[in-house]
Order: sequence, then structure tokens, then C-alpha cells
Amino acid sequence: MLNDPQFTYFLFFGITITIACLAAVIVLKMRAIKQLRSTVNNLKRSLDEMDEQAKLIVRTDIELNKAQEELDKKIGELYALQKLSREITTTLEESQIFQKIGSAELGELGFEKAFAFLWEAKGFKLRLSLGYETSNLQRVITMINSEALYSEIITKAQVLSSASLSKQNPQLKEKICRVFDVYSFVITPILPKEANKGFLFVGTKNAGTFISAGDEELIAILANQLGQAMDNAKLFENTWRAQQDLENKVTERTNELTLALNEVKNISRRKTNFISSVSHELRTPLTSIKGYASILLAGKLGEVPQEVHERLEKINKHSDELVHMVNDLLDIARIESGKVIMNKESVDLKQISEEVSDLMSVQLKEKGILFSSNIAQEAKDVFADRGQIARVFINLIGNASKFTPSGGKISVNIRKLYNFAQIDISDTGCGISQEAQEKIFEEFYRVDNAVNQQVKGTGLGLSLVKHIIEAHGGKIWIKSEPGAGSTFSFTIPLAI
Ligand code: ADP
Repeated sequence: MLNDPQFTYFLFFGITITIACLAAVIVLKMRAIKQLRSTVNNLKRSLDEMDEQAKLIVRTDIELNKAQEELDKKIGELYALQKLSREITTTLEESQIFQKIGSAELGELGFEKAFAFLWEAKGFKLRLSLGYETSNLQRVITMINSEALYSEIITKAQVLSSASLSKQNPQLKEKICRVFDVYSFVITPILPKEANKGFLFVGTKNAGTFISAGDEELIAILANQLGQAMDNAKLFENTWRAQQDLENKVTERTNELTLALNEVKNISRRKTNFISSVSHELRTPLTSIKGYASILLAGKLGEVPQEVHERLEKINKHSDELVHMVNDLLDIARIESGKVIMNKESVDLKQISEEVSDLMSVQLKEKGILFSSNIAQEAKDVFADRGQIARVFINLIGNASKFTPSGGKISVNIRKLYNFAQIDISDTGCGISQEAQEKIFEEFYRVDNAVNQQVKGTGLGLSLVKHIIEAHGGKIWIKSEPGAGSTFSFTIPLAI
């Protein structure tokens, strides 16, 4: 059979096919192995990357924890700083500001050693110290006052720190650390505008606690707030002093014024008494002069020649004027001293105004003056002394007609003003200058004008009017312009 060519052919064909199949299988397996290898490589790479990332995560976590710790420390410090700021900015006494900064708070900020000095007339004065024994403090004070460096910190507004000095001046850094017994430090100027300037020193004692740039900033903020708090304290002290001075001055002036017022009251009382007694004394001889003149005028002691008659009439007229003046003076003095009792009752002002205008009708007619009145019903009844209020109307309307030229107008207006009647008596007369208005209610004051040179008067009428109105609890004032007439206004309480 092996010699059978057909069999051989089939065998050969079969072997070839099998080999080809095996070869194909091998190729396929090889390709699969290659793919597997590349997958394994990829996996290995991924594992490496993952390993790297895991290491990174661990590193980052450590850093984050460190950052968190620092942040917590910073927050704590900021909280302490805020607490401190609040305390010092609400303190208005310099010594207490430093007391408040005191040990506890600076300790909370993480500094074991600290001191503050202010420049006063004869050198630096210690205001605060933390972490130094009394025996060491003297050394610190001597050192501060013997080196120009510390006044330069103020004049140059310069911050010195162990961090900056280790590059610029390591010897100086070492010296400061040695003298003040610290590992790291910051010295910041305190620069208030009004109060004494100085500086704040803070330091750490442990080699592990290094003062960072952030700490430096913190101390600079604190020193700045210290300066502001000191300015506030100074301002408060100045204001308080000024207020004390003012209060003392006011008390002093009040005492002086009380003395002066008492003196014025005494003088016024003496003047009133004097006027009262002189007027009283004048009345008796005046009455007899007038009496004798009347007897002589009546011819009871025999016929008097015409020339003597004329002179006697003048004596009589002038005596009348004098009696009138003496009576006014006496009334002013009596009202001033409270001797006149006002018999107050309900008084109808409309009626008084009409009576006074009737009384003056001849005089008004002669000068062709138009009189008018406008009286509000609600204001016509006042609580007053009838006779005295009538005198006020007579004086004011009398003056108005005296100083108003022919053809002028006089008006009386009465209206209600709160619980008072306000009475305005206006005229179209010569008016009164501002300067004269200020003196017009003074006794014997008369304006130096053309009318007064022709018309007689005493200058007592308005003073009397003012006294009567004030004795009723009212007020009087004037509005006038030269050439444009005058309005005298006064108030009297309404009858209830
Ligand atoms: P007398 O009228 O007797 O001079 P008064 O005290 O009544 O005294 O008045 C003082 C001065 O006030 C008057 O001399 C006058 O110059 C001025 N005066 C008063 N009332 C008027 C008025 N209605 N118009 C202008 N001047 C007046």
C-alpha cells in the first residue's frame, strides 16, 4: 500500500495539509502571545503609573495635613489678633492698652517673649514685657537706650526681623537673639500721629518655631492698631481735658455772672427805691406849686395882669407835665419792685380799642388820620388789669398819632396766638431806625428826630408800657423802618 502512488500522494497531501494547519495554528498562537505580551506590558505600565499616583497622593496628603495645621495655627492667631484689636480699640487709656496686650494675648499669638517701648522726653520707657525676669529686664532697658538702632526703627519706620537680618546683617541678628534671649524675632515701629512713638518686639524662644513672613505681617498689623488705639486714647484725653476746662470755665463764668446779676439787681433795686422816693418827694411840692398857680390864676388873691396870667398858665402847664412824668416814674418803679398789684379780670379789648380811639378822635381828626381796627372774636377777651391795659393802648395809639403825619393811617389788629392775644398797632409814620429800636424801651430814651424836636415827651411811655405788659406775662416788640411806618406788637394772655 505504501507503494501505491495514489496512497503516497494522499499521505503526502494529508501531511502537507496537517503541517499547513499546524503552521497556521502556530502563527495564530504567536499573534495571541504577542497581544498578550503587549497587554501585560500595558498593565505593568498602568500599575507603575498607579504606584506613582499613590505615592503622589500620600505626599499631597502629608502636605495638606501640614498646610491644614498651619492654617489652623493662622486662624487661631488671627482670632487672637482680632480679640486683641477689639480690646485695645475700645480702651481709652494708654496704660490700659498695653496692659490688655499683656502676656496672655501675645502668648496666644505664639510668642513667648515680647516687650514694647515708647519714646518719652528722656529716652525709651518700657510699657510692656513678656517672658523676661525682672533681673533681665534692666539689661533689656539699658541695651535699648544705649543703641541708636531702636530710635532709627521709629525715624525710618522700619521693620527688623531675624529672617531679613540673617541675609543682610547676620552679626546683628545674632547679637539681638543673644541679648534678648530669642531664636527668632520681629521688631515693628509703633507710629501714632498724636501720641509718643515707640516699637514692639516679639520673639520665639524655641528653635522649632520660626517667625514666618505671615507672622511679621500680623505683628505689623498689631503695631498699627496699637498706634491707632494710642491716638484714640490721646484724642479722648484731649477732648476730656477740653471738656473739663470748658466745664470749669462755665462754672467760673456762671459764678461771675451770678455775682454780676446780684449786683445789677441790687443797683436796680436801689435805683427803683431812689426813683420811687424822689418821685414821691417831688409830688408834694409840685401839688402845692400847681395849687398856688391855680389860686393866682383864679384871681382869688386879686386881679393878675395879662403878662403874669400868661406866665402862671405856663407854670400850671409845666407843672401838669411834671406831675405826669413823676406819676409815670412812680408807676415804673412800683411795677419794677412788684408793688403794683394787677387786678386781673376778663377784659374786652374791642371795647378798650374803641374807647381809646374815641378819646383820641379829636386829635386824629385834626391830623386827618384814618383809624381802623380788625379784632378776631376769639382773641378779644384777655385776662388783664383793665386800667393798665387801657394805658398801654393810650400810649401806643398816642405815639402812633404823634409820629404819623397828616393823612396817614393807624390800624389795630388783634388775633389769637396760642393762649395769647397778639395786638399789632401799626402806623404809617416816620418809622424808627434799627439802632434806635434797640433802645426804645429804655427809660428817658427819645429818638433825635424832627418830630421830637417839636413835640414834647418824656421818653417814659414805652418803658411803662413794657413793664405793664411783662407784669401780665406778655411780650412786646417792634417792627419798623425809617420812613415806612412802625408796628408795635404785644401779647396778653387770653381769658379762659
Ligand atoms: P415819648 O413819646 O414821651 O417821647 P415814649 O417812650 O413813648 O416817649 O417813646 C420813646 C421814643 O420812641 C419817642 O420819643 C419816639 O422817638 C419813638 N417812638 C415811639 N413810638 C413811635 C412811633 N409810633 N413812630 C415813631 N417813633 C416812635
